[in-house]
Amino acid sequence: MPDLTVSGLRTTIVDLPMRRPHRFAHHSIDTQSYLLVEIMTDAGITGVGEGVSPGGPWWSGESVEGQKQIIDQYLAPPLIGADVEDLGGIRRKLDQVAYANLFAKSALEMALLDATGLAHGVPLSTLLGGASRTTLPVRWALSSSGIDGVLEDAAERIALGHTAIKFKMGALPPRDDVRRVGEIIDKLSGDLDYIGDPNGTWDLRTAAWAVRELESIGLAAVEQPVGRDDLDGLAELRVRATKIDVMADESVCVPSDALSAVHARACDSVSVKPGKAGGLRAAALVASILDTAGIGCFGGTALEGPVGTAASAHLFATWPRLRFGCELVGPLLLSDSVTTVPLRYEDGHLVVPTGPGIGVQLDYEKVGRYQRRDRA
Ligand code: MN
Repeated sequence: MPDLTVSGLRTTIVDLPMRRPHRFAHHSIDTQSYLLVEIMTDAGITGVGEGVSPGGPWWSGESVEGQKQIIDQYLAPPLIGADVEDLGGIRRKLDQVAYANLFAKSALEMALLDATGLAHGVPLSTLLGGASRTTLPVRWALSSSGIDGVLEDAAERIALGHTAIKFKMGALPPRDDVRRVGEIIDKLSGDLDYIGDPNGTWDLRTAAWAVRELESIGLAAVEQPVGRDDLDGLAELRVRATKIDVMADESVCVPSDALSAVHARACDSVSVKPGKAGGLRAAALVASILDTAGIGCFGGTALEGPVGTAASAHLFATWPRLRFGCELVGPLLLSDSVTTVPLRYEDGHLVVPTGPGIGVQLDYEKVGRYQRRDRA
């Protein structure tokens, strides 16, 4: 067995250009920044992980700049000399050094798992319990602004085989927002299914109205209609809804949140993401808790880049059930990559990489090109 003692760690922020601006409820972005984490071992095997913050710190409170700093200054030193495969022991050490910082810890665990998979010659999905599928249906996310551009974008994606759409909502007043979604659905043809995501921007009264309206125009699910702390509000909406799924995103991050959601009967489904869970293994635990309770698991995204998207794909491929497919669109939003071979999307599906570890390699020329330089 190769010597998997951690000998070094490198963090690099890259800013990748986006194909078009991505609009959230309150702001839009035209580059997406990632933190690449490389963990070197005595055997010469290097594992790669990725830290992400979907469009900045608004979602989780973490930024890629903050992740780089907490890793460089606090989390890297206790990792040096550790055994890559001692995931539990390493995690306890990191938790002793820094509370929370879930996306940063997720990036580190991703790199450790990549190195482990490379050393054993097995894909990440095998380490996570074994893949039960080779591709994942990808739901396309539509920007929350305008109608014409959005229709064009949707038509393009439907032609490429996507049959599921997610509406980013919350940027407009609720009545305009719901009307806009209805108009877009009216203009799209084909057998499509839809979910809406206002990122918790509605109060309970608005959400109660909007959920009823969205149900009547045929949405399959509404994601995080009320604020992240309002499990009672989610539960109340769930009781009122008859056909539409009430899905939690921001409200359910770590395993204990999943237990709380089960206890409160707060949702029908959850968007599960490794970053917010604190890592792939914690996300697997979240999914196990939810699946056991009969709550659906949707393969969520924090707009990961090529490395993080591949890692999430390995995890989602291991799930026995996948509700509403996945939304691993991150690489499709970018006009360039930092991996040697781009991830494959075919007929609206993401092909789960099959090589050892995460199954992607960094293209160091590209990493150099997009690496953030110190700004004067
Ligand atoms: Mn969401």
